[in-house]
Amino acid sequence: MASTVWFTDLSSRPGNSLLDKTAALLRAAGIRKHVSPGDLTAVKLHFGEKGNTAFLRPIYLRKVVEEVAAAGGKPFLTDTNTLYIGGRSNAVDHLTTAITNGFAYAVAGAPVVIADGLRGESAVRVPVPGRFFREVSIGAEIARADAMIVATHFKGHEISGFGGALKNLGMGCASRSGKLAQHSTVAPTVAQTGCTGCGTCVAHCPAGAIALRDAKAFISPGVCIGCADCIVVCPEGAVRVNWNEASPLVQGKMVEHALGAVSGKKSPPLCLSFVTQVSPFCDCYGSNDLPIAPDVGILASADPVALDQACADLVIRAAGKDPFRERHPGVDWTVQLSCAEELGLGTRSYRLETL
Ligand code: SF4
Ligand code: SF4
Repeated sequence: MASTVWFTDLSSRPGNSLLDKTAALLRAAGIRKHVSPGDLTAVKLHFGEKGNTAFLRPIYLRKVVEEVAAAGGKPFLTDTNTLYIGGRSNAVDHLTTAITNGFAYAVAGAPVVIADGLRGESAVRVPVPGRFFREVSIGAEIARADAMIVATHFKGHEISGFGGALKNLGMGCASRSGKLAQHSTVAPTVAQTGCTGCGTCVAHCPAGAIALRDAKAFISPGVCIGCADCIVVCPEGAVRVNWNEASPLVQGKMVEHALGAVSGKKSPPLCLSFVTQVSPFCDCYGSNDLPIAPDVGILASADPVALDQACADLVIRAAGKDPFRERHPGVDWTVQLSCAEELGLGTRSYRLETL
């Protein structure tokens, strides 16, 4: 059976601004079926890397926050720490970046809670019936939230072709170890030239997988449990991820994490996607290139698979070509949709309801 995807274009007039239309979209999509009075509600988004300007504008999040509050929920804005070392790899840097990019309480109307804690070690293992995983590691405060709204900037992505709701759920809700499990099949390695032999990683490794030899750190791959802590605690940035997993496998693993992220909630998350400033790459980059498609509009659905399919279809129609395949020719973005459909996360068939 087809899922309903709600859509509004970007036309507006006095008394019916894009903020008003965002609120109307959430109400049409049935936000009160997804958020109940008293629910601690995770509003999952990407705060944008420092220097990026394509991420969702905070004033739209304020509207989401107001609608969650109107439904009786207690909203908080959230994301997980990154696997790579950057402006969002621990909670202190992440909060600072979020506030720098405008996600202060005074603007968004809700607090920011980094879902996997100070160093990305706060996670919950969630069972999933996956092809790759029997359980996945999800940021604790997302897993523990009563309800969730998934607010996504729909754009291109170098590994998955596009980054939509499924990516926001799968990669975005995974803890650091969950992200490592999606991107790599082998243990991190230490770049010997960068290592000063300080021993910080040795002290932090929960598996005792790291040893110092001649004042350089070495990781035993057979002992490593893939927690990824060493990557973020190294003050020299000398511990490197082996980004060795191919796109179709990352997409398959990503949607198994997406299933883990939505599991255990009283109601499935309501997903809201902004198909605007469709940049070629992820908002994790510290810059964003020219958009690869015209702005399309704002969409909402309880079905992340249908939502991503509809966003992709509308982008292709507006661009007159598939800009994701053109920009990332080696990537088949349909893999994430078909794998998610197989897992029961939703359906690729949808009915577009226009507001
Ligand atoms: S924390 Fe970094 S610099 Fe220190 S020993 Fe480990 S790899 Fe080397
Ligand atoms: S990933 Fe975790 S278990 Fe593996 S070496 Fe690094 S700190 Fe140790």
